[in-house]
Amino acid sequence: MHYSKARITPALVAALLLLSAPIGAQTNLERVVNGAYTPTHDFDLIHQRIEVGSFDWDSTAFDGVVGTTVVSLREGLAAVTLDMDRRLEVRTVRGARNAALEFERPGDSLVVRLPRPAALGDTVRFRVSYRGRIEQGRGLYFFKEEPGRPHRPQQVYSDGGTDGNPRWIPTYAPPHDKTTWELVATVPARFTVVSNGRLVSDRRLPGGLRRTHWSQDRPASTFLISLVVAPLIKVSDRWRDVPVDYYVYPEDSALARPLFGVTPDMMETFTRLTGVPYPWKKYAQTTVADFIGGMENVSATTLVDWLPDRRAYLDRPWYQYVLVPHELSHQWFGDLVTAENWANYWLHEGFAQFMPGQYWAAKLGPAAEDDYYFEEYQQFLAKDARRRMPLATYNSNNVYPRGALVLRMLKQQLGERPFWAAINRFLTRHGGRTATSEDLRQAVLDATGQSLGWFWSQWIYQAGYPEFAVTAAWDSAAGAAVLTVRQTQQDTLRADSTGLRFTVPQVFRAPVAIRVRTTGGDLVQRVVIDAREQTVRIGGVREAPTMIVFDDENAVLKTLEFEQPTPWLTTLLARHPDLWNRSWAIGQLARRTGDSLA
Ligand SMILES: [Zn+2]
Repeated sequence: MHYSKARITPALVAALLLLSAPIGAQTNLERVVNGAYTPTHDFDLIHQRIEVGSFDWDSTAFDGVVGTTVVSLREGLAAVTLDMDRRLEVRTVRGARNAALEFERPGDSLVVRLPRPAALGDTVRFRVSYRGRIEQGRGLYFFKEEPGRPHRPQQVYSDGGTDGNPRWIPTYAPPHDKTTWELVATVPARFTVVSNGRLVSDRRLPGGLRRTHWSQDRPASTFLISLVVAPLIKVSDRWRDVPVDYYVYPEDSALARPLFGVTPDMMETFTRLTGVPYPWKKYAQTTVADFIGGMENVSATTLVDWLPDRRAYLDRPWYQYVLVPHELSHQWFGDLVTAENWANYWLHEGFAQFMPGQYWAAKLGPAAEDDYYFEEYQQFLAKDARRRMPLATYNSNNVYPRGALVLRMLKQQLGERPFWAAINRFLTRHGGRTATSEDLRQAVLDATGQSLGWFWSQWIYQAGYPEFAVTAAWDSAAGAAVLTVRQTQQDTLRADSTGLRFTVPQVFRAPVAIRVRTTGGDLVQRVVIDAREQTVRIGGVREAPTMIVFDDENAVLKTLEFEQPTPWLTTLLARHPDLWNRSWAIGQLARRTGDSLA
């Protein structure tokens, strides 16, 4: 997903937390690691066949028939409970040999009573027929053609987000149970139907109708089920033997290829970087009206319909620069490997926000990479200032930029090849399955031998970042530069109503390089900062420094106060290859000008 709020209700969190009573005493790490956010259920969802039709744009309604196959995970399973919005009017539920089954509708669920209890491992099938009445934007979006509004054709599409699909189909919503599914839609023949997986058939029917049948044959989580019905044309492309299709309104046909034409190259690049080929049968990108941005529905991403025009490419259109590679990378991160629960959602959004920077680095070089993550850094600081939260926690507000920056930091610390070896381990081990933040740590350990518990603790389970205050002096007698490094971040966060309090480490562990320049040349010393206050002596500095750079490679997410003579700053600005460091020098110099004017 991109730029939409996760739709997880406080009530749901409270309900989950009630299941394990002493949780108030637990830290965020304990909650996330111990599966406190993963619900229990009685069955394994195996397959769903979703048939929809009779769409009515006046009453925002449709007919649905959903066949569901589950395998019992209990002895004596008497009922199967699916998530299903209370507004969906169930007509019948039928089991084997078309026998009517009893059902109940408590809250937003459907409880189907089985004719006899199922044993562990038994397969159970039933079919739910219903009329779906939709409140606009809850699960489905209906749009009519409107006079005076060009570029807004009639259409209907789903927006599952993280928990929206039960608002239009009965299913199991949490991400940890993967299933296959088919989607069969009957619509007026002028519309095109796009959904997940491979196209099974697309037939004209009497009465000006059309029936389109898609099949998602490789298991995925149900929040990735997608339906788009709109007047669309298909612009066809290809990556290796995988069809890559761009579905846009006919009037946008000339804009599709300039925007989406980078997709096969992005698929090739992500395949090369991760060592895992694009995992699905096809890749469709479909544009719809008034969309939040993009949603990574498996093999069938849905995107907003404001395609950049030719002028936009004079600059760097966000759509192509961020949105297209973001949603594409979700096909690996989120769709192939899925978070076991939403407290690990950063495994989706952090990677999806990290990967575009890797694509542009591969295409345009390190300056483009710096540029990309510098924007993320600014967004990160703004979000952190509004509310300080860790990466791995329920409803974290900072999964996009903090996630991207933490992954970049991990890559810098491990090195390019070990990092991608670890990511390959993570994707191959958990592909088609689910994972947690700890699974990623384990993959790094197995692929690189690096035990990074300290990194996970401070960057993933705790909040904040190091705020460094550095002073430097030159000891001319000893020939040494002496730096005093203090960490000034404060831990002032309060507990929420469930007793959870996010913590900010008083001491971040930070491996940094310090560069000391003199007229005799440069010295670079690597040190590990791991105390609230510590002194770093760099020997062999026989002449007065002309520049000192703390964290020369910008390897640590941080803020920095470091009073320096103006010539040091101008040298840094003129000579330093790293964008963060140059930009920091500009900030210091600007403040200085301001001071002298005041
Ligand atoms: Zn996303």
